[in-house]
Amino acid sequence: ASALLSTETKATCCYCGVGCGVLIESDGEKVIGVRGDPDHPANFGRLCTKGSTLHLTARPNLQQQSRALYPEMRLARSDERERTSWATTMDFIVNKFAATIRDHGPDSVGFYLSGQLLTEDYYVFNKLAKGLIGTNNVDTNSRLCMSSAVAGYKQTLGADAPPPCYEDIDHAQVIFIVGSNTAYAHPIIYRRIEDARKANPLLKVIVADPRRTDTAREADLFLPILPGTDVALFNGMLYICLWEDLVDLDYIAEHTEGFAELKQTVRDYTPKFVAEICGIKEEELMQAARMFGKSQASLSMYCQGLNQSSSGTAKNAALINLHLATHQIGKPGAGPLSLTGQPNAMGGREVGGLSTMLSAHRDLANPEHRAEIAKLWGVPDVPATPGKSAVEMFEAVRTGEIKIIWIVCTNPAQSMPEQAMIREALRNAELVIVQEAYKTTASCDYADVLLPASTWSEKEGTVTNSERRITRFKSVLPKLGESKHDWEIAIEFARKLEGVLGKTASLFPFANTEEIWNEHRESTRGRDLDITGLSFKLLEEQGPQQWPFPEGASSGKKRLYEDGIFPTANGRAKFVNTQYQPLAEQVDARYPFHLTTGRLRDQWHGMSRTGTVAQLFSHASEPSIVLSKVDMERRLLNVGDLVHVTSKRGSQIFPVAVGDDMRAGQAFIGMHWGEEYVSGRGRDGDGSYGVNALTTPAFDCSSKQPELKHAAVKILKA
Ligand code: SF4
Repeated sequence: ASALLSTETKATCCYCGVGCGVLIESDGEKVIGVRGDPDHPANFGRLCTKGSTLHLTARPNLQQQSRALYPEMRLARSDERERTSWATTMDFIVNKFAATIRDHGPDSVGFYLSGQLLTEDYYVFNKLAKGLIGTNNVDTNSRLCMSSAVAGYKQTLGADAPPPCYEDIDHAQVIFIVGSNTAYAHPIIYRRIEDARKANPLLKVIVADPRRTDTAREADLFLPILPGTDVALFNGMLYICLWEDLVDLDYIAEHTEGFAELKQTVRDYTPKFVAEICGIKEEELMQAARMFGKSQASLSMYCQGLNQSSSGTAKNAALINLHLATHQIGKPGAGPLSLTGQPNAMGGREVGGLSTMLSAHRDLANPEHRAEIAKLWGVPDVPATPGKSAVEMFEAVRTGEIKIIWIVCTNPAQSMPEQAMIREALRNAELVIVQEAYKTTASCDYADVLLPASTWSEKEGTVTNSERRITRFKSVLPKLGESKHDWEIAIEFARKLEGVLGKTASLFPFANTEEIWNEHRESTRGRDLDITGLSFKLLEEQGPQQWPFPEGASSGKKRLYEDGIFPTANGRAKFVNTQYQPLAEQVDARYPFHLTTGRLRDQWHGMSRTGTVAQLFSHASEPSIVLSKVDMERRLLNVGDLVHVTSKRGSQIFPVAVGDDMRAGQAFIGMHWGEEYVSGRGRDGDGSYGVNALTTPAFDCSSKQPELKHAAVKILKA
């Protein structure tokens, strides 16, 4: 009978940045099923294995076991947390914040948010930190994901805006995939590439990656570059394009600046030099450059291989240099398209949800931008001191500079590099607040206060996907237990804190997400991402829309920079003089293996959701370290043997798997498993934290994104 009463509600998948539309079937009390939304322009009805099993993550018995259903707190670290009321919890954390800010200043507190929050959640937390408390210590796990893409776009094109759209896949003649296993990490994009190849047999795909992934296997040309050598590859391709007259000198003269300096630099990147650095053949390099430069439309797609790097900004900029020089941008089928890792990292960037940014792509370092936001919020000023980025924030918690850390919808006790440091920080903090839907994450073990939050199918608001497309969706189910929406928790806290601080007018008059959205969209007026023409009503009636969509517009902009005018002071794009820099951590005699990390096909992040679906383990049932046949033979290892994998920061035990995708001297570990899978649930006792016990916190100096993709390790039989 319930099936007869069931309804379907439009929403989005809560996993990756493709942002697929889903139709959630529900009887009002539980989710019954899920299918792809045939009308959503991101996926036209398709879903990957993760998206199509979303309903299995919302089973009632599972919710009772794994969800945080009521607030919990403890007054001493030695105590267990106990159930409490929202009123008691809020009073406690508000008074603690007020006292800490009074005694140690506003920078003694920090917020660590998530690219899985909705835009409205993000907006109020950002305003709470920067507008009310007066600290820029608000950063997110997007720092681990997309901040190098942000810095690369801003340095070259003037704004953090991916120029192409998904439809460009259908118009491209060459698709250049770099540092992305798209078939696994963004499967619905990859299906679209497969369709485009069927429709256009002339379409060629080039893949550059240290591993021969499933994406690489299908490529027309595969460049098995050594880890971290992307800048040399792009500069080398530009060298060949220059030499063979494949650059567009008229476009460069009319629409860009800085090419002369870059040209001087690129002269050193001869095919021989680059082939040696990258570990590829000169002919392969020449072929890639010619395919990219000669094509009518070259589209590049890239992800963490470029971003999670100590030279991530230069990698992004060097690729965009190549697009600008060959005029492979601002026309159908061409341009640099960063594939966003998380479902709403884009929305977070739009509201300025990073410690170095302000709302609507404004710069914290720009006094005019700070004044604009202060005026919009009705506060005297926005603090000028840059906030701490993710790694810096936890380091400051470790040393006691930050005393209270509020973690929202993310699991740094698994996802941050150098877990020993992160765990020490969480132990040293005076107060750890974790706002979570799942009480099972490793970070919850460190929480003095656990705030239960709503999650997928219960939340409503907006998200933005990788092609700048905003989707508005409504909730399907009521909130579970005593949980609240993330924005509600932030606002309740903010209003109480305003009372304690003696503020008479509230900065948080919002009654619902629409009112938050309306303030957010007003902050974008006149900016590159102007969405003043987008209302909740329009998004509901006309479906998902791309930005910019200013007031008076009848549609969003499919593709940016078709007029050759860029959002810089003089309207010109800027070439960045990019130089190849070696990896942060070199292999040597003691640590001879290049360890790379990445996503597997059927799991998502720390598995708090996908780990509850049995069928998602059929692709990979346990964590393993993948080695080449050559290294297995050299070390007398068999599949399934246990090995100690050791970096300068820690050691973990993994079973060995063999992969024909690996080069000798390289190893790969999936990023998803935490300690409960690696060595039993011995949290914080035996130092078994998953792969991020091994990774390095070294980060890019511009984007502050850590080099999670690579560490030097040794591998010894256990
Ligand atoms: Fe969800 Fe990404 Fe799969 Fe689409 S491609 S269904 S957004 S995980």
